[in-house]
Amino acid sequence: MLRVDLRELDRGPVETDARLDPGDPLVEGLGLALAEPVAVSGRLQATAEGEYLWRGRIHTSLAAECRRCLTAVRQPVDVSADVLFSRDPDAADDPSVYPLADTATAVDVGEAVREELALAADPYVLCREDCAGLCPRCGADLNAGACHCAAPAEPV
Ligand SMILES: [Zn+2]
Ligand SMILES: [Zn+2]
Repeated sequence: MLRVDLRELDRGPVETDARLDPGDPLVEGLGLALAEPVAVSGRLQATAEGEYLWRGRIHTSLAAECRRCLTAVRQPVDVSADVLFSRDPDAADDPSVYPLADTATAVDVGEAVREELALAADPYVLCREDCAGLCPRCGADLNAGACHCAAPAEPV
């Protein structure tokens, strides 16, 4: 469960574990091509009056394409996050703090997970550091060897 009742938190830290399938409303609409479910684990605890810290890990992998050669690659995502939720109205100015409404009865870690996932997606994925890419002329995959364009011109 990623939504934790405040009364439960007042009694002590709460473990937050979840497995989000690609169709889960929490991850849907992020535009991420999830190659496996998102595994979330962590612990939420009160750190001060009206303040809660979630310390967690988010693990999954994305189906991506190499920027140079367009080969399908798996992009691992492994994020460690420290997220602060606060009822303090002054904390609302801090972009790293999730504000909690005065009337809130629960802390929803889900929105933080969603945001961390959106940030973790790297748009510049390479299949490998030294990927040779595609020939700009014929489109051949140069990782498989030089294409005909690259062949030295025969002296006539
Ligand atoms: Zn590549
Ligand atoms: Zn070529």
